[in-house]
Amino acid sequence: MRVLFAASEAAPLIKTGGLADVSGALPAALHRMGVDVRVLLPGYPQVLKALSSLQQIARFTGLPGYPDANLLRGAFPNGVPVLLVECPELYQRGGGIYQDEHGVDWTDNAQRFGLLSKIAAVLGSADSPLEWKPDVVHCNDWQTGLAPAYLHFANDAAPCVMTVHNLAFQGIFPPQTTVELGLPAQCFQMEGVEFYGSLSFLKAGLYYANHITTVSPSYAKEIQMDALGSGLQGLLASRRGILTGILNGIDTDEWNPAADPHLAYSYNAADLRGKSPNKRELQRRMGLHIDPEVPLIGLVCRFTHQKGMDVVLEAVPQLLALPAQMALLGSGDATMQRAVLELSHHYSGRMGAFVGFDEALSHLIEAGADMFLMPSRFEPCGLNQMYSQRYGTPPIVHATGGLIDTVMDCNDASLACGDACGFVFDRMDATGLLDAARRAVATYHDKKTWRQVQLNGMAKDFGWSQSAAAYHRIYSSLLRR
Ligand code: ADP
Repeated sequence: MRVLFAASEAAPLIKTGGLADVSGALPAALHRMGVDVRVLLPGYPQVLKALSSLQQIARFTGLPGYPDANLLRGAFPNGVPVLLVECPELYQRGGGIYQDEHGVDWTDNAQRFGLLSKIAAVLGSADSPLEWKPDVVHCNDWQTGLAPAYLHFANDAAPCVMTVHNLAFQGIFPPQTTVELGLPAQCFQMEGVEFYGSLSFLKAGLYYANHITTVSPSYAKEIQMDALGSGLQGLLASRRGILTGILNGIDTDEWNPAADPHLAYSYNAADLRGKSPNKRELQRRMGLHIDPEVPLIGLVCRFTHQKGMDVVLEAVPQLLALPAQMALLGSGDATMQRAVLELSHHYSGRMGAFVGFDEALSHLIEAGADMFLMPSRFEPCGLNQMYSQRYGTPPIVHATGGLIDTVMDCNDASLACGDACGFVFDRMDATGLLDAARRAVATYHDKKTWRQVQLNGMAKDFGWSQSAAAYHRIYSSLLRR
């Protein structure tokens, strides 16, 4: 089985969020199962620099609407083959991969990710310059959403899977972009790529894909309803027969408290003593009072409304009064960033914050915190709540999407059957959050029960093998068709 896996980011080469974790780990898991998978990425400067011995294997000229580009072949550090679209005009620049240094979307994003989609489709069709032909093209999020549309109009096209990692980001562009990027004018309609008068890359993907997946079973249901359907609920409900929720796994090598180079001390479920030196180190790094007893609440996320950061900010004084300490890492909304820093100055010694992206610190927070806060308003899957369970740091989460599917609330019944592994709240406001945090802190002070909750989480299998097998079944079903 040959699979072309197209994405706009993939760890460890380039990462802004969970999509990168998945695009790094899922192809690796498929590769281990014997699938001949190749990951297609844009040739960003960071990626070109990170990969040595790249080899040009094709050149694309005259693609309607796009500058000329090369296709380079290399490999991830773990050996999974990667194909890079080299097009300096579109990808060789400073700033972020989606936005400039001021956080404003690149104005040519339609072309930048249209090209990624187009090349995925060319490689999956009779027009491919390569001998290697994929049996399936697997697209991820809006940045590759035009690929299913291009494939639909191509010769001898491979079937394609469209995975939604976050329905809220859709890639919306002016209507004329459709034709400018070489799609037939007739597909700009409701039964096609049109979304309220604009071109939607994600809708294109959802409309033309042969199978749709999303990253948790609960989110697969939620996106068919008004509240979380982002305007696409009707389309998704009408395609529910080919819509599957497959829970993301985590990279259990990268996120392993027994062998994590970012930690002060290693530990495992058999011996949790190594957790306290990590707590001490985290308290030191975050400028917190060194105190082994006070519960330390960690948080790592994009500072956005989606992640419930507004609710966290509101709840800070009462969380600290539990009493507890807080260690926050993230970046995003400028007002939230400022508010986080102001609060950390105001409550210095009790609340520590770092604004920015810091992979090493995110690992230390998972290990050094006692509990991990994740009050997302909606969460397609979420990864941090799984990392935290693996690190013996029970999560406090809002009952939504993948958080429902991965965290079992601690109560008498779940404790009795050994499932309790975190604290879940329904009410999405400061009262709901504080209620769950209070329960978490009370359980923390009951050492025996706390240890049980930690060990329940640490014993869970969050690896990719089951999920990779589920994707494999979908690929196979498309081939049989
Ligand atoms: P999303 O993709 O919606 O941002 P996820 O929980 O699925 O959320 O994945 C986020 C990933 O990005 C996790 O691996 C998380 O640890 C990481 N991450 C988010 N913000 C930061 C940050 N400021 N520094 C380091 N890692 C971060």
